Amino acid sequence: MFRFHLEAVDSATGARAGHWETPHGVVETPAFMPVGTRGSVKGLWPEQLRQTGAQKILANTYHLALRPGAEVVRDLGGLHRFMNWDGPILTDSGGFQVFSLSGLRRMDERSVVFKSHIDGSLLELSPESAMKIQEDLGADCIMCLDECPPATAPEEKIQAAVDLTTRWAARCRDAHQRADQALFGIVQGGVLPSQRERSATALLPLDFPGYAIGGLSVGEAPAQMYETVGFTTPFLPQNKPRYLMGVGRPVDLIECVTRGIDLFDCVMPTRNARNATAFTSRGPVKMRNLVHQRDEGPLDPDCSCRTCTQFSRGYIRHLFMVEEMLGPMMLTLHNLTFYQTLMRDLRTAIKSNRLTEFRAERLAALRGEL
Ligand SMILES: [Zn+2]
Repeated sequence: MFRFHLEAVDSATGARAGHWETPHGVVETPAFMPVGTRGSVKGLWPEQLRQTGAQKILANTYHLALRPGAEVVRDLGGLHRFMNWDGPILTDSGGFQVFSLSGLRRMDERSVVFKSHIDGSLLELSPESAMKIQEDLGADCIMCLDECPPATAPEEKIQAAVDLTTRWAARCRDAHQRADQALFGIVQGGVLPSQRERSATALLPLDFPGYAIGGLSVGEAPAQMYETVGFTTPFLPQNKPRYLMGVGRPVDLIECVTRGIDLFDCVMPTRNARNATAFTSRGPVKMRNLVHQRDEGPLDPDCSCRTCTQFSRGYIRHLFMVEEMLGPMMLTLHNLTFYQTLMRDLRTAIKSNRLTEFRAERLAALRGEL
């Protein structure tokens, strides 16, 4: 039901290009997954999302489990039918939001008890319930419940989180039943090579169909994130997809594809779009700036999306200044098109054995982000 094929591996860097077959279609890798936090990629219809080049999307278990509830989604036919997206979907475990968003009340071997950020009610998340909720939601690719400590936590704390994450991963695997879902293990370990190795080594015997790298992009410097990805991917199987959770900016995608990552997700293209920041081939552009007021030119002359081919910078700026909803919708369409085009170009560069040159060119063009 799930088959991962590598088509090319860059000999200089280890970067990979391939495709992943899932029950809802093929994902070309490396791939970027737009985030549909609450079952919607804000402001876009599914066909518009498809037009950006997106093949697989992510939805957040924490938010959907609180509202409308995983059983409601199940009774309405599962996530694919509920949101009318017929391509592959990935759900996270909900653990990251429990640790970052809700009031954490208790955490022990068995589970975490947390306070809903919506109505303050106390709820429990265990490896078993994380599997039950994700089975009800029905995504193609689902995640083990893990503990994600701050990257700066002391080593004892990182080590304890690695060990708990390993024991929870075994419980998730035992509890998970749906054969039409690929359950990924999550490697933790902060920015410490020895802990990343311990985590990966402990998870490999559980033989998950894919592995995620968690616990990054949580406040560490970009260079430290790249270094950590660079020493973690060699511990992961060559023949299974590797997913870097919650990353990142266009430069981060280029740097981490170069270090052997196949799957990404991040809220940046969609969230920044709503805040009037566009990602372009020449770096980020703030669309509320006065400089765009009388600009007849396109947002990004190198982009073929409808925002860039049909509207001027002056018009897009106007929409944001008067708070028309079309402004965020247009920038969301553009930013996601920009991300998908970058991933397509990375895949092409790897397959044509010119990743090193491509990386240098694109990083120079994106210097505004560095
Ligand atoms: Zn565009």
